[in-house]
Amino acid sequence: MTIHTHYQVIIVGGGTAGLTVAAQLHKKDRSLDIAIVEPSQDHYYQPAWTLVGAGTYDMAATKKRTADYIPKGVTWIMNRVDTIEGGDSRVTLDTGQSMTYDYLVVAPGIQIDWDKITGLSEAIGQGGVCSNYGHDKAEYTWECVKRLKPGDKAFFTQPDTPIKCGGAPQKIMWLTADYLRGRGLLDKVHVEMMSPGTKLFGVDVFRKALEKVQARYGTAWSHYTKLVEIRGEKNEAVFDLIDKETGEVSGQRVEHYDMIHVVPPQSAPDFIKKSDVAGPGGWVDVDKNTLQHNRFKNVFSLGDAAGTPNAKTGAAVRKQAPVLVANLLRVMKEDKVTDDKRYHGYTSCPLTTGYGEMLLAEFDYDNNPDPSLPIDTTKPRKSMWILKKYILPFMYWHGMLRGRA
Ligand SMILES: Cc1cc2nc3c(=O)[nH]c(=O)nc-3n(C[C@H](O)[C@H](O)[C@H](O)COP(=O)(O)OP(=O)(O)OC[C@H]3O[C@@H](n4cnc5c(N)ncnc54)[C@H](O)[C@@H]3O)c2cc1C
Repeated sequence: MTIHTHYQVIIVGGGTAGLTVAAQLHKKDRSLDIAIVEPSQDHYYQPAWTLVGAGTYDMAATKKRTADYIPKGVTWIMNRVDTIEGGDSRVTLDTGQSMTYDYLVVAPGIQIDWDKITGLSEAIGQGGVCSNYGHDKAEYTWECVKRLKPGDKAFFTQPDTPIKCGGAPQKIMWLTADYLRGRGLLDKVHVEMMSPGTKLFGVDVFRKALEKVQARYGTAWSHYTKLVEIRGEKNEAVFDLIDKETGEVSGQRVEHYDMIHVVPPQSAPDFIKKSDVAGPGGWVDVDKNTLQHNRFKNVFSLGDAAGTPNAKTGAAVRKQAPVLVANLLRVMKEDKVTDDKRYHGYTSCPLTTGYGEMLLAEFDYDNNPDPSLPIDTTKPRKSMWILKKYILPFMYWHGMLRGRA
């Protein structure tokens, strides 16, 4: 394929956000000259990895060919972007080839920093060290869950960085607890969340509901506790204890584990951090409501890499994409964003609280509940489990990625 030296629109990253924006833009105006830069042949529905880790979803069903979701007429450049120069409206690929653009959409997702925890990269995927954060990893979580036996210790961790799907660390813990309960093992296996955070969940109404879930299972939850090292050969995990007042490390706890589900630290992709489109924390510096770059008016961003202070989820992308597309099209025509298309931080977190039940936490930038369904989703419900396992994946593949939802 010949790569041109200039495109009208370049989309960096063809994951959930990039493909959704490409589909919507292309639907609205088929004459646009759009290129997506995406290195991966496979596209995964990541929200189902929690269910894979709990043995109730097939990993193969979370994967489709990226090619099948690139809209016809849109150019797919199967490379990585190495550099973005917003000041020069230029993108350079890892091959060294450069392209200029009229408009840029930055959507390369979040970077997983396995190496930020000593020993984790070496230990992951064996000896009881597991994570749902990877298509090559989540199936091993289920192996670990199934192997738990009386006297064992199972830990679940959460980092102190932003992560994709803030509920994922605890979802797999509730499912593990429910699995153990069903086998009469819940009071014989120690189950504990190790979290640097201060509470179970940031939004009060859902926190209260989750505290009831915790009481029902009788599992432990340690706050101000951060995983810093895995000693795989000894099945030991080292946690820093954080002082509540000063935020400084006040001591350490070393625990033997039989299973430890790790949610790794995450950050903006390195190539974004070093680019002039980056703002605070290395995230793409966009207006949190319009999704337009704060300095380069022909640059937009959404999804996990965007510097918007929402909880990072695919559900957030679903609300961001139409706002970004409307504003981008308006800027093309009139050099200014629309008056009425704004993103207010909507995100949703489907919290699986057991096999066959879920509560749906939907909220906005201000942590105010932002419900989209006509039922009370603050209580664990069977209908929400059906939504998570069957309806949302269908809507994703057939609606969202096709630019229909
Ligand atoms: C275990 C788990 C559970 C989750 N559960 C939920 C859930 O229940 N509900 C929910 O809504 N969300 C959930 N999510 C989060 C959701 O999957 C992400 O928020 C969403 O995929 C973000 O979309 P994105 O396009 O920003 O990033 P991604 O979908 O990750 O796509 C980023 C793309 O950019 C590409 N890319 C990276 N670097 C470059 C580069 N240098 N050049 C070009 N392309 C590049 C990548 O190959 C990738 O295809 C979960 C995620 C995980 C891991």
